[in-house]
Amino acid sequence: ARKTDENDIVVIGLGRFGSHLAGSLARLDHEVLAIDRSPERVQRWSAELDRVVQADATEEGALRQLGVAEFQRAVVAIGASVEASVLTVLALTELGVPQIWARATSEKHAKILASVGAHHVIFPEAETGERVAHLIISKMLDFI
Ligand code: ATP
Repeated sequence: ARKTDENDIVVIGLGRFGSHLAGSLARLDHEVLAIDRSPERVQRWSAELDRVVQADATEEGALRQLGVAEFQRAVVAIGASVEASVLTVLALTELGVPQIWARATSEKHAKILASVGAHHVIFPEAETGERVAHLIISKMLDFI
């Protein structure tokens, strides 16, 4: 197996957000280890991403076996299940991953993620909504 580079990134959860994130990182020349518990999701992305594995990311032992403890960065892109997202961040914290990014779907979810050790909390829907609002307004100004 190749040695883990400091630019390598773990992406957990290949929903719409996680799959686009993983694809973008790969195009930016980062090695991505993508993890999803759904065999269908793993199958769906295995042609486009170099390393896609099926595992339940709430299981610290499963992540350890995949070598996740050697990575400098991991992103938890699970959204719908607060429990799965929180337990996954906890597992990454226990493994000592130095930079944990996690997706929140509410302010309370964000607080829990931070309290179990997430270093960066992101709100993709809220951030995209805000960005598009600014984009629309700037385009409107172009026509004045
Ligand atoms: P999106 O909005 O990005 O499409 P979603 O909120 O619709 O995401 P989620 O339920 O958040 O969907 O799941 C995103 C992905 O995370 C799914 O592919 C799901 O299989 C995966 N996932 C959920 N729980 C776990 C887990 N415990 N371990 C690994 N992957 C998981």
